[in-house]
Amino acid sequence: MRPSILWLPLAFLPWVPATRAAGPSPEGPFAHRGYYLTLTRTPTFGLDAWQTTVDAVRADGGNLVVLWTAGGFRSKKFPATWGHNTDHENVKADFTRDLIDYAHGRGVKVLLGFTPFGYDGVNRMSLDRPEWAATGPDGRPARPFGIHSWGRNLCPAREDVRRFMLEYVTEMYLDFYPNADGLLVESSDYAACHCRDCGARFFQNEFTFVKAVSEAVWARKRDATVVVYPHYFTGVDAPGLGVRGARQPFDPRWTVFFTPHSAHPDADLIRKAKGAIWSDDSPALRTPVEIREAARRARRLGCSGWVPSFEAFSYVPTEPEDGQAYLVGRRQLPLGFGWLKAGQPPYDELPARVNRVAYREYARNPDLPDMDFRAALGKDLFGAAATAEAVDDALALQRVLVTGRTWWQAAPVASPDRVRAMRAAGQLSPERRGEYRRALDRLREIDRRYRGKEEPFAGLHRPAQWVVDSWAGDAGKLLDPP
Ligand SMILES: [Zn+2]
Repeated sequence: MRPSILWLPLAFLPWVPATRAAGPSPEGPFAHRGYYLTLTRTPTFGLDAWQTTVDAVRADGGNLVVLWTAGGFRSKKFPATWGHNTDHENVKADFTRDLIDYAHGRGVKVLLGFTPFGYDGVNRMSLDRPEWAATGPDGRPARPFGIHSWGRNLCPAREDVRRFMLEYVTEMYLDFYPNADGLLVESSDYAACHCRDCGARFFQNEFTFVKAVSEAVWARKRDATVVVYPHYFTGVDAPGLGVRGARQPFDPRWTVFFTPHSAHPDADLIRKAKGAIWSDDSPALRTPVEIREAARRARRLGCSGWVPSFEAFSYVPTEPEDGQAYLVGRRQLPLGFGWLKAGQPPYDELPARVNRVAYREYARNPDLPDMDFRAALGKDLFGAAATAEAVDDALALQRVLVTGRTWWQAAPVASPDRVRAMRAAGQLSPERRGEYRRALDRLREIDRRYRGKEEPFAGLHRPAQWVVDSWAGDAGKLLDPP
């Protein structure tokens, strides 16, 4: 599916350079704007789907995409890294270089994302080399973990592991996709290594690799952007990992990356760095209100970029991710949108467009009054046919579809299977049942109001109808009062 005609005038509007010396930039407070996306976890998205996604980024005023790629390309040196992804469109067709060229043609830069010593592709190296695995806080080998790609995180104190990381990442960037604009070196948010050589020195060991890979990249591409986490420089605790950061000298060629859950902002680094990017999860998991708050926070921190996650997954879990056995063997629904066709990206669907308009508008002006946001949203979704009621309905639909959503699971109201699993686990309280029933009633109202309507209102009707239909028959009894 291509972007609707409503987007075209925006997509082709040239950016007007600021002509006044004073006053806010028409592009807003952030020089770097766009989304963090995980190519490696969308095996069903081919080049077309990704080009559509880049179009969406551009239409939303973006000029940057973090394309998380490790585990999602056909590494020649380390085939184990894509063993879980043999059906991935990029593993089969290797389209990412073309995608990056396409993005450049649209004015969008691309950073390749990966995690040192953990996550996709990298953690699978522990399958054949158990001696590479990190040590858990209990002194035993780290437990297997993953999202799509399962394995153990690796120990950065080992010279052979650091050599693997350097060879793998330079292969990804310099051999496969040298047209990319740089790297996001995303420190793990789930595990460190607690072996005798790591523990308090974990980030020092990780830093040895980060410095080496940065130098290798800059030697070949002097202007490459290398985005790193603050843990190597601030010496403060890394949230959730049980180890402290290191205190290494900071090279001002680095750009720094901060998140609410894993890398807390540091004013000193923001001052020193080439750039500072704030990245939260509001477009993927929340509503326009949280998107606005994230924009304000990024501006308050003095970040030069705001690149939140808009990740959608389309892989088939092989493990009970999110602790849920019912997910195993079922393909993930991008953003929880079950009405999408196979391989279709979710970003042009109305509930996603609500958050895209929010991102675009609040990135330009974090202080945008609510009335103006609603006007912009109405114009974007419904053009001249916009009404206050339709805008209310669009916001309500979007809110229902993210309430309770997780990275892996659709909102309970959009997933009878999830509610069934909740009941089996004794987690379906009468309060929750009532809450889901009321949300479903709201969607029934939307379903009735726009039934048989054509575009632009069909986009509002389609998701509501899909949810309402999913509760037909026996499934509906799950929400009945006990
Ligand atoms: Zn270690």
